[in-house]
Amino acid sequence: MAITRFAPSPTGYLHIGGLRTALYSYLWARKTNGEFKLRIEDTDNARNNEDAVKAILEAFTWVGMPSDCEIEYQSKRVDIYKKYINQLLEEGKAYKCYMSREELDALRAAQEAAKENPRYDGTWRPEDGKVLPEIPADIEPVIRIKAPLEGAITFEDGVKGSMKFEANQVDDFVIARANGMPIYNFVVAIDDHLMGITDVLRGDDHLTNTPKQIVIYNALGFEVPKFYHMPMINNPAGKKLSKRDGAMDVMQYKRDGYLPEALLNFLVRLGWSNGDQEVFSMDQMLELFDPKNINKSASSYNAEKLLWLNSEYIKAVSNDRLIEELKFFDLDLSDYAKRMEILDLGKQRAQTLLELKTAVTTILDVPTQYEAKGTKKFVKEDTPVFLKEYLEVLEKNKDDLYSVDNVENITKPFIEEKGLKFPQLFQPIRIALTGGTQAPSVYDIISILGYEETANRINSALELGFGKE
Ligand code: GLU
Repeated sequence: MAITRFAPSPTGYLHIGGLRTALYSYLWARKTNGEFKLRIEDTDNARNNEDAVKAILEAFTWVGMPSDCEIEYQSKRVDIYKKYINQLLEEGKAYKCYMSREELDALRAAQEAAKENPRYDGTWRPEDGKVLPEIPADIEPVIRIKAPLEGAITFEDGVKGSMKFEANQVDDFVIARANGMPIYNFVVAIDDHLMGITDVLRGDDHLTNTPKQIVIYNALGFEVPKFYHMPMINNPAGKKLSKRDGAMDVMQYKRDGYLPEALLNFLVRLGWSNGDQEVFSMDQMLELFDPKNINKSASSYNAEKLLWLNSEYIKAVSNDRLIEELKFFDLDLSDYAKRMEILDLGKQRAQTLLELKTAVTTILDVPTQYEAKGTKKFVKEDTPVFLKEYLEVLEKNKDDLYSVDNVENITKPFIEEKGLKFPQLFQPIRIALTGGTQAPSVYDIISILGYEETANRINSALELGFGKE
């Protein structure tokens, strides 16, 4: 049973890298009948804002991955952290450091000059028999933790394998600032322990935090969780994913007409695989996901694949669901009699909900103008003659136009009899019915619109001379 968490810092919106981490954590918890917990890491007051928290929670609601516990806010837990800082001080596992800014700068400069890694030199670290400097009157101390002076900090990463950080790579780092506020790595370790987190899945940009957190776990006698550090998502050129490549607000994907399940399916494959399977329902993800199959190398964002997946999901979900989704784009088909037909038609080619909306409104909206290029090419002198004749044929069969096959069976003999080529009839009809030549099959449109509306639109186009000069 894995207890996992996703712990965003609300410094902006939730982006897809974060959502991928959350998804993997969610899947692993659910798959093992464990729990997935959300924690908002908002101790850095200056950079956090409530809108960002709202935006993150909104994104979680949209994708449907609820937290299994009440959401924890670090800003409300400062007293808890302070208690542990004091405990470490009392136990002699942490100490006050009175080094001034100038002294620290001088230390760093000397280390850089000697081509050494910058690290705290232990001036204020208490040791048996060591005489500490005199406490300066004008300096509020920071609190540092005693990191091991020798040996190594090791752990088995679920993705990267055995990890080893030599003791000299981790210094006595600060766990609380001079104002008493605990710092990032400290609160993460405390919270992960108190929230009972067994498995920490996060981006490998956090890898260097892990030995520090292990120092904290060890100092407090907490069990160290299992870590999985996941490689980043890159752009197709192998560089860090930028906003332009897709590293945008998760909610932007909603606004761009993606279904959440398509986005999650896309993300599950960005860094994890099960053979060469591409399409995964949530149930399949839950059945198959295992963090041990997380890729070791960075994955590459592929916008085309996301579009393809989205078009697959648009075809697969129910029309009732699409009706609900389209409301977000100000299209309400709930009361439209032919809603099923029009959606069946529109979703054949739509890659996004926005394209689906366009496909639908292209048919629903009475054209207010006619595409000049198409009109010039396809509306000829004899066009009105056979359009009128065709309308007569439709009128005679008006009760049968409900099915696409019927419309086809009625239309084909007419075309043959008149010796027409398909585009001669179909393109002017497309223009009359939708304003342009890019609409789907004429049979489909006529069967959706029915006789009256088809006749009205064709007659209007004829009356207006298709808008020709
Ligand atoms: N708050 C961190 C972030 O947003 C994540 C911390 C963690 O996963 O340990 O990157």
